[in-house]
Amino acid sequence: MSWVNLGILLAWAVAIGLSANRLTRADEPLSVLILDGVNPSHDWQVTTPLLQHLLRKSGRFRVDVATAPAEGEDMSGYRPRLADYDVVLSNYGDQRPWPEALQADFVRYVEGGGGFVCYHAASNAFADWPEYNRICPLGGWYGRDVRWGPYAYFRDDKLVRDESPGVTGHHGPQHEYQVEMRDLEHPITRGLPPVWRHTKDELYDTLRGKAENLQVLASAYSDPAQEGTGRHEPLLVVQNYGKGRVFQTMLGHADYSMRCVGFITTLLRGTEWAASGKVTIPVPKDFPTAEATSSRE
Ligand code: ZN
Repeated sequence: MSWVNLGILLAWAVAIGLSANRLTRADEPLSVLILDGVNPSHDWQVTTPLLQHLLRKSGRFRVDVATAPAEGEDMSGYRPRLADYDVVLSNYGDQRPWPEALQADFVRYVEGGGGFVCYHAASNAFADWPEYNRICPLGGWYGRDVRWGPYAYFRDDKLVRDESPGVTGHHGPQHEYQVEMRDLEHPITRGLPPVWRHTKDELYDTLRGKAENLQVLASAYSDPAQEGTGRHEPLLVVQNYGKGRVFQTMLGHADYSMRCVGFITTLLRGTEWAASGKVTIPVPKDFPTAEATSSRE
């Protein structure tokens, strides 16, 4: 065989190898690690399996769960291998700190380019861990106040960062409400309707955070008739932390809230984006409209 032919053969082999590799990679599910174990006022034993089911059913993810030892048990050996995953999703809402080794792993993981999804009450975990409160854009309750950062909400369609003191973290009674998209250019939200009706859920308000790179994708009007603030409160947000991508959803208090196709779609797309920087999961036909909710069994 001549050198020229060998060269062609090699180029061909490399091309085949590369395209095969690319196909495998596109087909390969993204890996998700769900962290849970304690989540006051939240039934994580119900919501974690549901999260797992929704992620798996999309066909885009494989999912593992690492449950922290229960309250009163020794936590010191809890150190799931975050680095083995494309994205970590927290359903852990407690104040009891993770062991220092896991805290350090977590910060290094996100800083180094790992994805993080902060789901509902995980927003309120670890009030006394400053770095967590920088990674998870907005949080509430557990003694948080103006020292944790300004409030973030919309006034006259502009995102306001409000330094005033006051209550941090609140919601009125659960109800259905309209979610308004604030950014339809982001990969997570592209193609979604500008307004859609969410099934019965809590509507978090008065959250705070340093939120240095905060980008709000969606908000909802917190109606004083529902004990709300009269402000448009952020519900779906993203930010970068180091090389990592963070997606935070305030939605999904309970199983019935999580069956909303709007919750499911934004969770799946937010998780995919946090894991890969891209979104391939389509907007389904049964997505809610401005007037009608849409839930799946
Ligand atoms: Zn809740």
